[in-house]
Amino acid sequence: MTIAPISPEPALVAGLDAYRSLPAKQQPAWPDADAIEAVRTELSTLPPLVFAGEVDILRDRLAAAAAGNAFVLQGGDCAETFAGATADQIRNRVKTILQMAVVLTYGAAMPVVKMGRMAGQFAKPRSSDTETREGVTLPAYRGDIVNGFPFTPESREADPQRILRGYHMAASTLNLVRAFTQGGFADLREVHSWNKGFAKNPANARYEALAGEIDRAIRFMEAAGANFDELRAVEFYTGHEGLLLDYERPMTRVDSRTGLAYDTSSHFQWIGERTREVEGAHVDFFSRVRNPIGVKLGPSTTPDDMERLVDRLDPDREPGRLTFITRMGAGRIRDALPALLEASKSLESTPVWITDPMHGNGITTRNGYKSRRFDDVVDEVRGFFEAHRAVGTFPGGLHVELTGDDVTECLGGSEHIDEAALESRYESLCDPRLNHMQSLELAFLVAEELRA
Ligand code: PEP
Ligand code: MN
Repeated sequence: MTIAPISPEPALVAGLDAYRSLPAKQQPAWPDADAIEAVRTELSTLPPLVFAGEVDILRDRLAAAAAGNAFVLQGGDCAETFAGATADQIRNRVKTILQMAVVLTYGAAMPVVKMGRMAGQFAKPRSSDTETREGVTLPAYRGDIVNGFPFTPESREADPQRILRGYHMAASTLNLVRAFTQGGFADLREVHSWNKGFAKNPANARYEALAGEIDRAIRFMEAAGANFDELRAVEFYTGHEGLLLDYERPMTRVDSRTGLAYDTSSHFQWIGERTREVEGAHVDFFSRVRNPIGVKLGPSTTPDDMERLVDRLDPDREPGRLTFITRMGAGRIRDALPALLEASKSLESTPVWITDPMHGNGITTRNGYKSRRFDDVVDEVRGFFEAHRAVGTFPGGLHVELTGDDVTECLGGSEHIDEAALESRYESLCDPRLNHMQSLELAFLVAEELRA
């Protein structure tokens, strides 16, 4: 009798480390090579955060969005922090996304794929490796999974132990997200009653009519005997920027069902605008995992760049595999997006097209805050719909930086947040987020567009 050998690593996994010999942008300078290797080894033995089967279901859901039969909503912090992983803040963010999703579901008359920028959105790309304050230069803050925000040499040194802490923070966040979305908190009637509260506010009178329509639709469903027990739980997925390769690679596992590699740090990862070069480490690494992958596309993206990304990341032209998240800026989208959409038609690829109306609309206010104008955000979303309408492609979703709390980080909205108000509650360590009210307002405006 021969004992079967332990099965060798499948071929796909053999190339998984090819990225290590390619240029990788935006990676921290770890002070101690042995320490980071020890952390990678430990992380690779810890349980996966998501199950490969869930990732496959998400790919199917995204395939529906690619085909024009579903709409995607991605939302959450620019940078999650360890201190911000509290029950209240997680609940408020989930609640905001659920409220937006109900409005969008009604507006689109389609399922909405709900995804948090949550449970892993800890690593940040930076425009400079260093930061100088009053003549002192230190490494830039790269997110809580790398170093600390306080401006001291100790805190700004990259600490590999933070990767393990990030994993545990992601695990506990995801646990609570699963509890909220499966345990009754997401009940459609409950979520709708929160929206009624929003629309009752005189500042939001404009949205009362739509909220009233949704109310009648729900009462109709009730009268017709719809099974509301089935509407007490929702599918909710997680996604984050796949940036820190010393986190993503050790979280990648071979699925015992299929023998294929899955990055189990979250269901979905996207490659950022700063790390999407076709010959770089990020594109190579994510080309080898089965997760649905996103890529951010800024206004300078050429049709040729896009085509090469499609060839690397979606060689089999598999619906749901690839999502393009465009972040052009309100002033650029109407010029920059149509050419890409047009070019995509001849590639036989069907990416999901999502608008990120945040990252192309940054401003610095006179009193020194990084902010965004709500009106610019709305204008970019309108430009996104116009571009798709003109070319005949499907506007598949919305990606926003938001919080469920009443922060004052973005200007405008029905509460008329002005520059002075930014001082009262600006909490983001990175980019400014829409607050709870601004997020709902955006959802109502997008729902109106979807009906148009
Ligand atoms: C982000 O999503 O926070 C981000 C850094 O985006 P981008 O890669 O589009 O600049
Ligand atoms: Mn951001």
